[in-house]
This record gives sequence, C-alpha cells and structure tokens, in this order.
Amino acid sequence: MSDHSLDTLQTWIRTESPTSEPAGVNMMMDLVIAELTGAPVSVERIPGQQGLGDALVLRAGPRTDAPGILVLSHLDTVHPVGTIEADLPLRIDGDRLYGPGVYDMKGGAWLALEAFRQVAVLEKATRPLVYIVTPDEEIGSPMTRPLIEALARKSACALVTEPARDGGRIVTSRKGVGRFDVHVEGRPAHAGSRHRDGRNAIHEAAAQILAIEALTDYARGITTTVGMIAGGTAVNTIPQHCRFPVDLRVETVADGVEMEAAIRGLVPRNSDFRLTITGGMNRPPYERSEGTDTLFAHARAIAAEIGFDLVSSDKVGGGSDGNFTAALGIPTLDGLGIDGDGAHTLQEYGLISSIAPRRDLMRRLLETL
Ligand SMILES: [Zn+2]
Repeated sequence: MSDHSLDTLQTWIRTESPTSEPAGVNMMMDLVIAELTGAPVSVERIPGQQGLGDALVLRAGPRTDAPGILVLSHLDTVHPVGTIEADLPLRIDGDRLYGPGVYDMKGGAWLALEAFRQVAVLEKATRPLVYIVTPDEEIGSPMTRPLIEALARKSACALVTEPARDGGRIVTSRKGVGRFDVHVEGRPAHAGSRHRDGRNAIHEAAAQILAIEALTDYARGITTTVGMIAGGTAVNTIPQHCRFPVDLRVETVADGVEMEAAIRGLVPRNSDFRLTITGGMNRPPYERSEGTDTLFAHARAIAAEIGFDLVSSDKVGGGSDGNFTAALGIPTLDGLGIDGDGAHTLQEYGLISSIAPRRDLMRRLLETL
C-alpha cells in the first residue's frame, strides 16, 4: 500500500466523527470529496437532517438506465469526540492500525473509495456505479434508509464495506434487529406508611422482563435482551414509573413478525398497572438468497485470482445497511471492508495488510459485475 493511502486513512481516523457530531461527520464528507478531485465522478451532497451530518451520492461509469452497482459505506462512528486523545490513540503496532472507527468502518470506506476512483478514472465500469456514503448507520440509518432503498431498487447488486469477520470472512446474511421501549406505570406511595397503597412499577417491570427474555430461542436464532433499565425516584418511595428498552434479533422475516407481535402484545399482570410499548423491527433480516450465492461465487473467484481465499462467515448477529438492500431482494455482499477486530471498543484496530487485497477485490467487482 502506498504511503499516501496509509496517510490518508490516518487523517480520516484523526477526524473524529461520531453520529451525534455533524461537524465531524461533515469534515469526513469533505475529505471524501477532496479525494475525488479531477476524477470523472459526480458528487451529490445531501444536507443532514434530524441533527445528523450530510450524506453523499457518488456516481461514475456509464450514465445509462441499466441496473447499477450500489456501494454502501458509513462514516459515522460510535466513539465520542476525544477518544483519540485519551482512550484509543492512533498508533501502528506491527500490522495493526489502532484508532476510533478504523475497523468500523473507515478502513472499508477508504479502500472502497480508492477502488471506486480507480475504476472511474480508468473508465473500466460496464454498469453505472453508485456509491452512497452515510452519516447515520450507527443509529440505524433513520435519515438515509429511504435513499438507500430507492437507489437499491435500481441496482443489480449491493456491496457493503462493513468490517470483515475473523480472518477476513465476508458477510452474506445477517439477523434482523428490532428495538422497543417499554414503559410501566404503577402507583406511587410512601414505602413505610402507605405500602399497601403502592403499585411498584419496578416489580411489574421485572415480571415483564422475565417474560421478554423467555422469548429467546437459540435453536431458531431468536434473542431478546433488556440491556438497560430506569425506574423509581427514591429508596423509600414505591416507584410509579419504570422504563426499559428491548433488543430483538431474528433470522427470518416471519420470526420478526411473530416476535414483534409477542412483545407489542404484552399486557400487565393486573389492571392497576399500565404498560405502553412502542417500537418494532428496525432492520429486516438479511437472508442469504440465490442471487447472493451467485454474487459470492463471483467474488470468491476474483479473490482466488488476487491470491486469497474468500470465505463467508456464518449468519452475523449485528445489522447493517445491507439488511435494507437484501430485504428488497437485491443480491448483497457485506463485510467487504478491512480485516481487524474490536469494533465499538477501545481495542479497535484494522490490519494494514488487509487493505490492498480487499481494495483490489472491490475494484475487480466494480469492473466485472
Ligand atoms: Zn459499521
């Protein structure tokens, strides 16, 4: 890999860009545009909404109505501004490049942008190339989902640059993700003098949480998790309110429908409590289709030419924007980004040696699909 390539990636990592900091995300978008100076690429910049940064739609290759190749990268990260100064400094240790967002997914976005640019400059594309760079993936893509889906419908396939899995495995299926908020309302009372009058919202929530967690069924790949809880106002007051979110993962669309109904349909154990449940499936399951099988076989053959064995991981628990394209029936390959480990943690790193071969894979995919 050239010095310019590694230098630029390091500049990207120094440019901290958590989803909630549109200024940082927009600086990232500026850096992407700067890389395309002089290349035959059209740049559409979509202003951020809902307090988010901007999105980019980059177009190259033949300007025809033929179904194109859609590339998806996000440039928001989960790490707050300041992480690079303190907890996760940018550093190189052997083959490892450490820094916030290097693995998820600035490394992947960088290698795909290099490939996209090369194919555009050399005029090697046979299909229209559309590259969407987003500011909001880490919070479930509330702003860019409609854009992704609209452009996916016009595409022959989608290539997503989320991080590779252990040993460079790519991703050909992902679980669907549901998110819910549960609010339990009881009746407050003094814990000493009026205990009998109280209806403890935390107690009722505890029973509901047991029911929700009991929906987990590993054999079907269904999991439910209550990962946070908030309730009560004082140690000596029977609490009126308790709130908690629910994380749901499913492997099939049918299971998503069933589990959504089960969670939304929970009722309080007695009429002194009120239960309000909002939310639902947020990312549909990305089920491996025949089209994705064909796409994978093609990518595997290219990887063999480049000199590595491309393997698909088992179904992945985390969702991505690939869930949206796959759910529309568009053949989708994900996990095409950098290899490494530690996504969303302070041990996050990418493997420098994985960048060049995976950039070449992306370039060949853009030329041959
Ligand atoms: Zn990601």
